[in-house]
Amino acid sequence: MRSRQPAIIDAMTPTRPRPPSVERVLALLRARAGTRAPEALVSAARAAVGDERRRLAAGDRPRPLEALADEVLARLAAHVADAFPSRAVNATGVIVHTNLGRAPWPEAAIRAAEAAAREPLLLELDRETGRRGRRYRVAEEHLVALTGAEDALVVGNGAAALALAVGLAGRKAVIVGRGELVEIGGGVRIPEVVRRAGARLVEVGTTNRTRVEDYEEPLRDGRAAIVLRVHPSNFAMAGFVEAPDPAELAALAHRHGALVVDDLGSGAFLDTAAFGLAHEPTPAERLAAGADLVTFSGDKLVGGPQAGLVVGRAALVARLRRDPLARAMRPDKATLAAVAATLGLHRAGLATREIPVWRMIATTPGELRARADAVAAGLSGANVVPLRSATGGGSLPGATLPSFGLALGARSADRLLVALRRGDPAVVGRIEDGRVVLDLRTVEPREDAELRAAIERAVVAAEGAR
Ligand SMILES: *Cc1c(COP(=O)(O)O)cnc(C)c1O
Repeated sequence: MRSRQPAIIDAMTPTRPRPPSVERVLALLRARAGTRAPEALVSAARAAVGDERRRLAAGDRPRPLEALADEVLARLAAHVADAFPSRAVNATGVIVHTNLGRAPWPEAAIRAAEAAAREPLLLELDRETGRRGRRYRVAEEHLVALTGAEDALVVGNGAAALALAVGLAGRKAVIVGRGELVEIGGGVRIPEVVRRAGARLVEVGTTNRTRVEDYEEPLRDGRAAIVLRVHPSNFAMAGFVEAPDPAELAALAHRHGALVVDDLGSGAFLDTAAFGLAHEPTPAERLAAGADLVTFSGDKLVGGPQAGLVVGRAALVARLRRDPLARAMRPDKATLAAVAATLGLHRAGLATREIPVWRMIATTPGELRARADAVAAGLSGANVVPLRSATGGGSLPGATLPSFGLALGARSADRLLVALRRGDPAVVGRIEDGRVVLDLRTVEPREDAELRAAIERAVVAAEGAR
């Protein structure tokens, strides 16, 4: 009955309206916006005309050419947004996962960035004088309050903060213990960052053991301007190891007129030991132990947007701020607003409530088990299993938190893992003991139902792909 309907309309309406040609829609768009017609515009115009043809066939009234042209542009805009990387559910159990975009932002940070992006703001305009003022300082004021530093600076990322700080050595040397000459990830190596910053690298100590005395010689002969300490980040050493005490090392450096720069990497404001993890050093502790500058990232354990945070002595921070490279490393206004909002949450003591990274760290195994039970209920082949989650982001290497999640039985675990990643949203898990495991610690509770549906689809797709 339905399939015959168009024929009936045809027979009854002598002059059925026809949609405009794709060429006419494109001609209007070209005239209006002065645009050429890239491929995307042509295919969006085709789709809009096709839609119009179907609407007319269904008996709707023809729409003006202008309305069709508007629709083409709306389609294009939607298409541009679709081209962004697909959304993923992080079921890896790695809280700060670099390949999944590191920290998900707190809601307050998202709102702050959106407002900053949408409207003009007093970013560097003095309210009273109407003249150019100091660039928006809220994030830096929060950093000062959170760490006890004299001053602070926000740049584009942690590597930029480190390079800027090391640049204070000028042509003199930067001393680094051999156990700290690490590769951070993505091929970025500390020795190369130091050299690219224009400084000379002096290595001291050995891979497993470095003592305060090892720094003495290059400091005594005045070659070195900076002692750089680097958080070993993504690896841990055990056994016959020794590292210098930060306060003793700082005292030695200062006696010889050198500065101490401490690259903390993750830079937690909360004590991770309170959550059953090892203790991750905090920026405040390192400043108290004599570091002149401490650098860390905004999107690791701080839990906000990508940024590089520098805290320390006022005179040094002022020199960094005046460095022309600081301009090249400057974050944009939306990032700055989001960093300020994230730091504001830390300062208000709301981290474990409002900052996703800390909410995930603070979630108890009992809560995770209850959620895993609910997701697994009635899902064939799914078992609730105890797991271990990691903080990630180069913090606390080797330390894990007890967690719960699902283990999925499948003919081929590899195939199921791929099917999960191919879904929409992509679900990213891991294989353990030949089974796909999905850790709920890194999944937001609001995503649980969606995760369950995605598992059901992936199981079907993986079985069908044989
Ligand atoms: C992550 C890290 C960096 C680099 O920070 P980004 O924000 O990724 O640029 C530098 N040093 C250490 C020790 C790190 O862990």
